[in-house]
Amino acid sequence: MAKTTHIVVIPSAGFSHLVPIIELSKRLVHLHPDFHVTCIIPSLGSLSSSSKSYLQTLPPNINPIFLPPVPINNMPHFGLQIQHTVTLSLPHIRETLKSLMSSSNNNVIAALIADTFAVEVLDIASELNISSYMYVPLSAMVLSFYLYLPKLDYEIVSSSEFRDLQDPIEIPGCVPVHGRDLSDSVHDRSSVVYKQYLERCRRLSLADGVLVNSFTELEAQTIKALQEEAKEKKQPRIYPVGPILHSGSGSDEDRSGCLNWLNNQQPRSVLYVSFGSGGTLSQEQLNELAFGLELSRERFLWVVRPPSNNPSAAYLDNSNEQNPLDFLPEGFLERTKEKGFVIPSWAPQIQILSHSSTGGFLSHCGWNSVLESVQNGVPLMAWPLFAEQRTNAVLLTDGLKVALRPKGDENGIVGREEIAELVKSLMKGEEGNEIRKRMSVLRDASANALKEEDGSSTETLLQLALQWKDLGGKI
Ligand code: UDP
Repeated sequence: MAKTTHIVVIPSAGFSHLVPIIELSKRLVHLHPDFHVTCIIPSLGSLSSSSKSYLQTLPPNINPIFLPPVPINNMPHFGLQIQHTVTLSLPHIRETLKSLMSSSNNNVIAALIADTFAVEVLDIASELNISSYMYVPLSAMVLSFYLYLPKLDYEIVSSSEFRDLQDPIEIPGCVPVHGRDLSDSVHDRSSVVYKQYLERCRRLSLADGVLVNSFTELEAQTIKALQEEAKEKKQPRIYPVGPILHSGSGSDEDRSGCLNWLNNQQPRSVLYVSFGSGGTLSQEQLNELAFGLELSRERFLWVVRPPSNNPSAAYLDNSNEQNPLDFLPEGFLERTKEKGFVIPSWAPQIQILSHSSTGGFLSHCGWNSVLESVQNGVPLMAWPLFAEQRTNAVLLTDGLKVALRPKGDENGIVGREEIAELVKSLMKGEEGNEIRKRMSVLRDASANALKEEDGSSTETLLQLALQWKDLGGKI
């Protein structure tokens, strides 16, 4: 019987916490066909249709196991809800692992890899004597912040908030970041959201290693600093394995006709505007963006969702049935019909970013969107909304210098004039040109990192695979 290395991966609830770890698994079994992955899936309510259809396309050596769904309980923050789902699923995770280990011919689990929200499974891994890894599907800078937060929390008196600090925070190997540009989960240190976040960060250090969706050429200083800390045994070993992205096939067919529209535009002439899978603007901001795009007179392809005062409104709940186009300023669609294409709620992003007509991306700076833009060399306009997006925006503007970022007014609203100026500058200005050149360098570097012979991230994964093979079981 062929020797097979068995890995277990554990995502947390929600499509965007499932896809990264499955894509990592796909990369692993593609590079190492003698690996078998079992994915133990917790879910909040019944599995979404996007998750179901995504899981139908798994290769045969990735096997999903579905845990009983946790009832939806409308917690006030999506982080709490995801964490709660994992916590309630822990007994099922333990039982599933035990049963995998006791099945007669599949008794060795070489490694367990968990999503950051599933950090509690580290205890189970240790109890069952399985080596444990975390997968951080984010930047190395965000990972550095996670590992640095316990120290920061200790050093800064708990009565003061990080967002009120005068000076930027200096995390080793990272571009300095103002407290206000950290994840909103750390903005109220007395909240349960913060306490859970801090606890997850503390526990990250208990893993045998941390895989991160970045690559050496993109975040060289940060990765070097993380690896040095690991050598001094202050932190777990870090493995940059990215960019690992969703291939974007399947449900991404061009229902709206936007790809067809792009086919008829000039090369690099279109600004793609999207706030990820759930980012939402207020009505006031939606109006300003619409007028700003119109004022810029540049071409645009805009994914619009119904407005809300909660920027993450659609993140875990995409059930808003209202027509987003009804919320656009009166006459906007008619006035911009020669210049713009508007799509309600969801677009085939990967195909759009790789299209030759796309010349810029106004993005909420979700890490997948950032990496997809890098992979296609598309210059960015950074418009972060929530979670770690503001930290990504700092990396992109101050660190990599591949994005322009609007300042907004004292209420956080970005006005139409500023939007129009930045859009013009990104699409046609000298600054945009410089950004485009730097993005092309990163695009080539990202392709190199994934080369099958000697790519830096391929080699990192090979190094891990060799460690795991030594522990592998039989199937
Ligand atoms: N995406 C897409 N179409 C959309 C919006 C998003 O295909 O209209 C995909 C996008 O390509 C990316 C993911 O959804 O892979 C969004 O992930 P990201 O980390 O950028 O942001 P999040 O949705 O987690 O805020």
